[in-house]
Amino acid sequence: MRRQRPTLIAVSTLIAVTLTTAPTPANAHRAAPPDQVTALTAHQADGYTTLAWQPVDGATDYQIERTPVDADNTPTGAPTIVGIWRPNRQINQQAPTFADSGYNPGDTFQWRVRARTGTTEQPYSDPVTATTTAPWGNPDTPGENLRTQWETTHAAQYTSDTDEYAYTAAIDALSDRVRVVELGRTVQNRPINMMVIGHPTPAATPEAVAATAPVAINCNVHGNEPGDREACLIMARQLAFSTDSRITDLLSHTTVLIVPTINGDGRANNTRGNSTGQDLNRDYSLIRQPETAAYIRMVRDYRPVAGYDGHEFGNSRAGDLPMLPPRHQNVAQPIFDQSQDMIEGHMYAKGAEAGWWACPYGCEGGGNVGLSEETILRNTLGLKNVTNSLLELRSSGGQTRPDEGNTANNRRRKTYSALWTFHQFLDYHRADRADILKARTEAIESQAANTGRLVFRGSRPIPAHPAPHPGDSPPPLDAPPADLILDTPPCAYKLTDAQYNGARTDGPGGVGTTVAQRIAAHGWKVITIGDDHYVPLNQPERGLIPLLLDAKGVEKLTDGERVYPTLTGRRNGPLVVTGFTCADDATINGPVTVRAGAALVTTATTISGPLTATGAAGILLADSTINGPVRIATSDTISIIDATIAGPVDLTGNTGTDAPVLAGTTIRGPLSCTGNNPTPNNLGIANTVHGPRTTQCAAL
Ligand SMILES: [Zn+2]
Repeated sequence: MRRQRPTLIAVSTLIAVTLTTAPTPANAHRAAPPDQVTALTAHQADGYTTLAWQPVDGATDYQIERTPVDADNTPTGAPTIVGIWRPNRQINQQAPTFADSGYNPGDTFQWRVRARTGTTEQPYSDPVTATTTAPWGNPDTPGENLRTQWETTHAAQYTSDTDEYAYTAAIDALSDRVRVVELGRTVQNRPINMMVIGHPTPAATPEAVAATAPVAINCNVHGNEPGDREACLIMARQLAFSTDSRITDLLSHTTVLIVPTINGDGRANNTRGNSTGQDLNRDYSLIRQPETAAYIRMVRDYRPVAGYDGHEFGNSRAGDLPMLPPRHQNVAQPIFDQSQDMIEGHMYAKGAEAGWWACPYGCEGGGNVGLSEETILRNTLGLKNVTNSLLELRSSGGQTRPDEGNTANNRRRKTYSALWTFHQFLDYHRADRADILKARTEAIESQAANTGRLVFRGSRPIPAHPAPHPGDSPPPLDAPPADLILDTPPCAYKLTDAQYNGARTDGPGGVGTTVAQRIAAHGWKVITIGDDHYVPLNQPERGLIPLLLDAKGVEKLTDGERVYPTLTGRRNGPLVVTGFTCADDATINGPVTVRAGAALVTTATTISGPLTATGAAGILLADSTINGPVRIATSDTISIIDATIAGPVDLTGNTGTDAPVLAGTTIRGPLSCTGNNPTPNNLGIANTVHGPRTTQCAAL
């Protein structure tokens, strides 16, 4: 969003009493003392005021003073120092800004700012008076006039579960743009709802939503960190009813997925974990709990391309808005880079304009946080090729917001800073959508190629910026230890039927879903031959699979057997595949036939000759070339990613448990898909087809 230049009323209570027109600081009648802050402006936004001023040479920091005033500009309360501006708040020191927040929106205030040189207080600026922006939505317009419990109680109460359900149901009923869907139930049977928001209406099915490159906001995983959730509820109302062209433009180009409360039981009881005590943000890979499983199934079905995950953070010295990208080293480089661009490229820059202090999670001595656990949604989503960030709202006011001993002030600052962040997130996606999708495509193709080492724990470094800067104090290095690195990746993991389908006790009440169910929730393809179940690594979530199925996994589901390629190098003559065959870096000169009940998995392999499979258990091709026609019929598990096929491709009558994938592939010939159930999909990565495409594959 391009912010308007501030409109302000600058009134000096010292000299303006007799003036009918307020002077601007630039043409004030007297010269300012050299150390006095000048050109103070106040720009109003939802729940905060951006104060901006000319910097004073030699200033160490600035104090922001706020005084409540009535309509006649008469003080109705004592002046209070509400903010301390420090140089590490923002990337540019030449245009200081401070987002003052915490007040009751709609009230009128006078602000002054003064520099301090060391501990010496310099003269205050001339004051600026303005009425702040009232809570969003015309009180006389249906829909817009909805308010949350948090808003109506002036932040004295958080919105309860029942009030949330009533509020979201009302939005659903009154806005064509919103559909509320239930993703699942908590352990205590509370609905886990998601608002699906698009313009003029949201796409009708998860697959249709996926085609819009949606964004997802997870608002409340830790039940005792409710600030982001209130922001989500307010933003949902804005998205549902605003006629602002920015909002309708955003919603015309994507779908916004908002999950207000994944941890409804924890929120109702104000606990970090769910009702079993499980920290849900240590469960997104293992999905032992129904709450996390619901979210992961949503990611599988709706395929968000970008995400934010809302939290609060107890370090009182940190910035307003600590953020962090997915750092696990198995996350594809383009996803890490794009997430860093969202945080350091976009949020730091926009924060410096609006006055919010974004910084890396862990900044200012925040301790051993922000590491590589794949159980954390930030990392899980990265391993699922989603550009995303953690968001932490600093719990207390800390040294830079000294007036937050008042609980409501503290709560409002947190929620409105989250509201700013989530709007910026949508703007970033709108502006950088092509780059986000390019990063996703490159990530999926590089993951499916199954090259390079696997790391079981260990993070990419977050480089420090030279101080003073929001990024001058990043989180710990968190390099992978040697014993948690596997230099040569296997082709697949083989699970026994007991491992795959056996009963588990790692869920609520000592009962867990099976590994088969959890793998299905992640959306991974599995090849079953007899009693053996193979999970190939030439898949989009290659970096996550070993963390759950390898013996080296730190928090794993089971010890799968590593299966290495059996077909490498050059081979001449016809090949008949029986059993489970894995080809890597192979050149096969001759026709390949996959027998009924057998499976072929390839990476970096060239087949010169037709590839034919009828009744196969599985065909998974990635980063491979087929110089000849490909015909796959009545087979179970099919995935073709980033392949080049010189010849026609025929997918006929395949009826596996999940959809055949055909993505990022170049086909020099016609593409025909008939009688497949489910219908093939492309994961949002278009194929290049030089011949006609028929029926089920017409849109691939
Ligand atoms: Zn948290």
